[in-house]
Amino acid sequence: MPEITRFYDPTRQRRTKIELRGTHTWVQTVETILNQWINPSFVGRAVLDDIYASPAHAKLLIRESNLESAAQVTGDSSNAHYRGSNLAPFGEGTGIGASTMLLFDIACKLPSKWCSGKCTNPRFNIPRHVLLHEMVHCMRQLRGRWRIGNTVMNGKAMPLEEAIAIVVANMFMSEKGDNVLRAHHTGIATMPNDPQAFAADPRVRELLDQIKADHPKFYNGVAALKKTHFPFNPFAF
Ligand SMILES: [Zn+2]
Repeated sequence: MPEITRFYDPTRQRRTKIELRGTHTWVQTVETILNQWINPSFVGRAVLDDIYASPAHAKLLIRESNLESAAQVTGDSSNAHYRGSNLAPFGEGTGIGASTMLLFDIACKLPSKWCSGKCTNPRFNIPRHVLLHEMVHCMRQLRGRWRIGNTVMNGKAMPLEEAIAIVVANMFMSEKGDNVLRAHHTGIATMPNDPQAFAADPRVRELLDQIKADHPKFYNGVAALKKTHFPFNPFAF
């Protein structure tokens, strides 16, 4: 099947920021997910706004994949990392933001490295949630905020960046009425829908403060929604 390319920008302001590339059917399906699920939601729109606000040189290519969904920096990866981060032996993060490629497999197959596909909960592993999760990774890279390191969330160690993507995707799921929330990066465990208790965990507090420092407009905009628009909003605490 021949591939087509289309730009995605409902705001008509940053026209070439987000590019979709794949077969015609795939591009149409991704446009539908963006238009019907992500753009009309508070959380999804806030992620899109933060992506559109990244520096002009940083572009997001969402590309068809038949293997996996993943976010990959294209170009110089030190630009995706926050300024001053130690990337030895490759130097320091510049924080200026980098172009990134989001591979998106609509069938949501998992690569064999992820426990042969047996470790995911079908409640989480659906296209709109997967796309939003990967878009959060891309938002971090486009903005030059990517961090190396681990944290502990719901009693389990995981990469900091995965914890951030999982928290934001949980908020998006909650907004869409799916309040069975994902606890970990690997495994099918769910977590209680109690944003106040979640935000009170010291490691989670640290994580939330990091998101706030890195993306203040995004964070404060969603925090201001309180619990009025969706139940799981840890930004509000
Ligand atoms: Zn991830």
